Amino acid sequence: NLSKRLEKVASFVPKGAIVADIGSDHAYLPCYLVHKGIIQKAVAGEVVKGPYQSALKKVKEEGLENQITVRLADGLEAIESSDHVDTITIAGMGGSLIVSILEKNPEKLETVNRLILQPNIHARVIRQWALENKWKIIEEAIVEEDQKIYEIIVLERGNMELTEAEILMGNILIQEKSEVFLKKWSNEVNHWKKVLKSLEYAEPTPEIVGKRQELLHQIALVEEVIH
Ligand code: SAM
Repeated sequence: NLSKRLEKVASFVPKGAIVADIGSDHAYLPCYLVHKGIIQKAVAGEVVKGPYQSALKKVKEEGLENQITVRLADGLEAIESSDHVDTITIAGMGGSLIVSILEKNPEKLETVNRLILQPNIHARVIRQWALENKWKIIEEAIVEEDQKIYEIIVLERGNMELTEAEILMGNILIQEKSEVFLKKWSNEVNHWKKVLKSLEYAEPTPEIVGKRQELLHQIALVEEVIH
C-alpha cells in the first residue's frame, strides 16, 4: 500500500507515460504505477547503494524486472535517451535538492514534458526555478500525512507569471485555500511570530534587523492570503 503522499504524486502521472522516478528508494511509486496499469515502463534512479539495493529487491519481488529498470546514478544521469522518458517524478526531498538535480543535467529534460515534484520543504525554490526555466504549474496539491504537510507541484512546459505570494504559497493552492493549506500557513506564521519575539531581545545588528524585516514581510504576505 502506497502512502497518501505518494498516491497523490501517482495521481498526476498520465496514463501510458514513461516515467523516471529519481530518488526512488524502495521503488514503491514505479511499482504501484505499473501494477495499477497506469504506466508500462519506468526507470528508478538511486544514488545511494542501500536504497538502490532495496529498489532492485522490490522490483524483483514484484516480478517487474521487465517493466522497471533500476539504476545506480546521480539524479537525472539515471535516464538514458533510449528510455524515451516523458515524465519525471522526484519526491521526498527538499526543494533545493530537487532543483539542483534538475539543473545538473538539463539535457536530460529534452524529451520530458511533465515534472511531478514533491518537495518536503522549500516548495518556493521549485516555483522560482520553474518560472525562470519556462515551466508552468498546471496542478498543485497539498496533503497531510502523519502530522506532516506535503506539497506537490506539477509542471509542463510554458510560461507563467507568479506574484511573490504565489511563489511562496503556490498559485493553485492559494486559489483552493484548502483546510490543510490554511493550517500549514497559520502554523508558519505562528512560528515566524515566535522567532520575531525572540529577536526582540537580540542586539540589533544589521543581520538581526534584516532578519526581522524579512520575517515581517513574510508574515504580511501570508496573512494577506489566509485572512
Ligand atoms: N522518493 C521516495 C519517496 O518519496 O518516498 C524516497 C524519498 S527518500 C527520503 C529520498 C531518496 O533520494 C533517498 O533514497 C536518497 O538516496 C535519494 N537521493 C538523494 N539525492 C539523490 C540524487 N542526487 N540522485 C538520486 N537519488 C538521490
